[in-house]
Amino acid sequence: MSTAEARNAEILESLAEVRARVKLVAPNSATLVAVSKYKPASDIQACFDDGQLDFGENYVQELEDKAKMLPVEIRWHFIGTLQSNKAKVLAAIPNLYSIQTLTSTKAATALNKSLPPERTSRLNILIQINTSGEDSKSGLDPLDASASDADAEATQLARHIITACPRLRLQGLMTIGALEQSLTAGDENADFERLKRTRDALAKLLAEEFGADGERWGAEGTGRLLLSMGMSSDFEAALKAGSEIVRVGTGIFGARAKK
Ligand SMILES: *Cc1c(COP(=O)(O)O)cnc(C)c1O
Repeated sequence: MSTAEARNAEILESLAEVRARVKLVAPNSATLVAVSKYKPASDIQACFDDGQLDFGENYVQELEDKAKMLPVEIRWHFIGTLQSNKAKVLAAIPNLYSIQTLTSTKAATALNKSLPPERTSRLNILIQINTSGEDSKSGLDPLDASASDADAEATQLARHIITACPRLRLQGLMTIGALEQSLTAGDENADFERLKRTRDALAKLLAEEFGADGERWGAEGTGRLLLSMGMSSDFEAALKAGSEIVRVGTGIFGARAKK
């Protein structure tokens, strides 16, 4: 076996294992995003050849380069820090499927404006929520089911996407969460619970303001706001807590070199 063949065999074994674990907890419909940052295009191609369609990348340049080299059937999820001046480069990637890290109206406007006219599908957007309150994490404050939710930044951003960005689709919410699990008394992961509460509160507000027909907001088909939470170390717990999108890097591709 060549080194490349051995590498591919190793990745496919990990991918199969992660898939099986996802399926065990969420037999129906969770999306596994394979996070491929720093990993070569050949790793991604091996997974794609095995039927993996969803890949996550953190850096605009790296994503742009890989998207050019790899099959257009791939659904790219951008999960890195989003600067509005990079919106145009991202929007030009024809098979960009979602941006999971939106935190500003400025970036939303820039994306909406920059999507090329030949693109017919709306770009899925998840608003990033900083559920752990750590300064090192980006994201907007969670909602807390109080009266102030109506004016919270996340709510205002959701409204902006729905009313002023017709080429975007507000698909859900995303969190990274604290690395050290902050478990609540009932053994629940506090970040996952906060994101869930935020989703429920936001969905209620949006249904009151815009109706719940699934056309203007929510995932295509169901109109529900999806939760993107869970990474290599905690994706099963996240799925049990109701996550619908998990982002797994190390668990599939192995450890990453430090940048
Ligand atoms: C890198 C990254 C992941 C994957 O992390 P692993 O621990 O390697 O699974 C998931 N989500 C985001 C936002 C990331 O930056």
